[in-house]
Amino acid sequence: MVVVGLTGGIGSGKSTVADRFARLGVPVIDTDVIARELTAPGGAALAQIQAAFGDAVMHADGTLDRAALRRRVFADEAQRRRLEAILHPRIRKAVEAALASLDAPYALVVIPLLVETGGYRDLLDRVLVVDCPETVQVERVMARSGLAREEVAAILAAQAGRAGRLAAADDVIVNAATPQALDAEVEALDSRYRGLAGKAPP
Ligand code: ADP
Repeated sequence: MVVVGLTGGIGSGKSTVADRFARLGVPVIDTDVIARELTAPGGAALAQIQAAFGDAVMHADGTLDRAALRRRVFADEAQRRRLEAILHPRIRKAVEAALASLDAPYALVVIPLLVETGGYRDLLDRVLVVDCPETVQVERVMARSGLAREEVAAILAAQAGRAGRLAAADDVIVNAATPQALDAEVEALDSRYRGLAGKAPP
């Protein structure tokens, strides 16, 4: 099976693109979804996060206060590493298990910080980058989240830049027009990946 890593900056359209592949029947494994499951009520990482960061990152009802945790790790490198040490090995194991259970010509793994962390390359045959101008990213994230322009700009500044991400890409989808305009690009890549899977050694 060919494994394609899908990445892109915040608001570039990773989820939108992944949904379109999924509609074509392509299995999609999303590391953000796995991370949310791990930290949901009953999730495998929740108790460890509470032990590491204390009740200040928990709501009174025992669920994770994601905004508090985000504030805690965004400004503090050591705390961020601590959170990553809890989550990343578990996310990776879950991705490996999900891939092992699949029977498909190819699969997508959505990894928002693929370029930044350098992880997962050994699992991936190709890297697909969703690209758009940074001004468009900012507008989309502001509209989606209600965050202020400066807050969105700070998130973008903490991520890889457009050039760095494109340099890591085997394939690029430009998502700067309408969502409908993605269909042709997604279909062309779907054919390409099915073709590669056909040629791949068993
Ligand atoms: P990511 O997963 O990379 O953060 P999303 O796919 O969630 O990005 O897209 C960010 C926001 O922009 C979403 O609200 C989405 O509906 C919207 N969006 C994505 N692509 C387009 C597009 N081509 N035109 C307009 N809005 C878009």
